[in-house]
Amino acid sequence: MTSNIIRNARLIDGSHIDVHLHEGLIEKTVLHQPTDSPGAGDIDADGQLLLPTLAEPHAHLDKAFLAERIHNPTGDLLGAIHAVHANAHTLTFEDIVERASRAVMLYVKNGVSRIRSHADTFDGSTLQVRALRQVANNFKDICDIEICALVQWPLSGKEGEPSRILAERARNDGADLLGGCPHLDSDPKGANKVFLSLAKDLNCNLDLHVDETLNADMLSLRDLAQRVMKQAPSFSVTASHCVSLGMQNEKVQKQVAQMVADANIAVVTLPQTNLYLQGRDRQSAMPRALTALSALRIAGATVVAGGDNLQDPFNPLGRADPLEAAGLLVAAGHYFPEDAYSAVSSSVHECIAGDAPFLTTGSPGNFILTPSASIREFIAFANQPRHVYRHGVLIYDTHET
Ligand SMILES: [Zn+2]
Repeated sequence: MTSNIIRNARLIDGSHIDVHLHEGLIEKTVLHQPTDSPGAGDIDADGQLLLPTLAEPHAHLDKAFLAERIHNPTGDLLGAIHAVHANAHTLTFEDIVERASRAVMLYVKNGVSRIRSHADTFDGSTLQVRALRQVANNFKDICDIEICALVQWPLSGKEGEPSRILAERARNDGADLLGGCPHLDSDPKGANKVFLSLAKDLNCNLDLHVDETLNADMLSLRDLAQRVMKQAPSFSVTASHCVSLGMQNEKVQKQVAQMVADANIAVVTLPQTNLYLQGRDRQSAMPRALTALSALRIAGATVVAGGDNLQDPFNPLGRADPLEAAGLLVAAGHYFPEDAYSAVSSSVHECIAGDAPFLTTGSPGNFILTPSASIREFIAFANQPRHVYRHGVLIYDTHET
């Protein structure tokens, strides 16, 4: 039985509290009394800002740091997909584990305690899934990593049989959930139907790349929401990207956003990669390639944000730091900084893992202490010190090497 107290932590409203932890979980919070003296094992926060740990709800750890090895000649989504497919034979188990591990360590140092990573499946192989399973196991004591098998298209009909078989193998080989790209399928609605059926049969959640295109005629999200509302599945459904929803008129945005909220589909927006990949053919009034953030939030849908790719053919940039996505939500998505921080931290923990809200009794003692004056300043400077705790135990201190 271990208990300890974080003393004199500052909340964003300026109040100072003591946080009581028991077995790594939050027991209670009380106002800080300056006269109390710390006991053995207590943490003196010294007035630093107390924030929930960050989260990455949409990564591609298997492709991390491939930017130098695999060039994307067109800079767009299809250019990246083709480039990775053409070089898939160069990727080995050890290579994937090494690059993904390097990425995870960076995420952890930046204060990330949860990652959902997609894993490619090529030509009947589950290599990426198995490699990331090993990485997830290796890091299980410092970061929760979920593996989502990215099932190739087509999915439906006789042509889709190999992909459906591979989805089952991926589950057996360590994938926690299934994903794919219905908008790239010759039959997007058929793909939605197959994915929902596979998730049910294989007893797992679903996280799809949805409508990652500026083509407003592609709106498979509406079909997905309709199917989910009708089937009311016992598993969760996440829709990543949803770029084309942002290209609809306000009436359609509002209508589909309400359907997404009613279907309880969580949306993951991925500003950095979509700002990079989309809109290269537009010379005038280039769209921001974000989903309909405002309509979704007004409708009450869960919207979180991620970084997507990390220095690979899909995105040459990235520091494995969710504050990048938070900053882009402020600048390109017009979020207030506090809402942006929530979208890359507590909202993800609650949406993906079902965690209780930050600092409530029984929630995990996962937090960051930083001397920043505010969340706005924390995001703006991006390089403020971060002391990262997991289950009440310090796992990374900026001052350590
Ligand atoms: Zn992705």
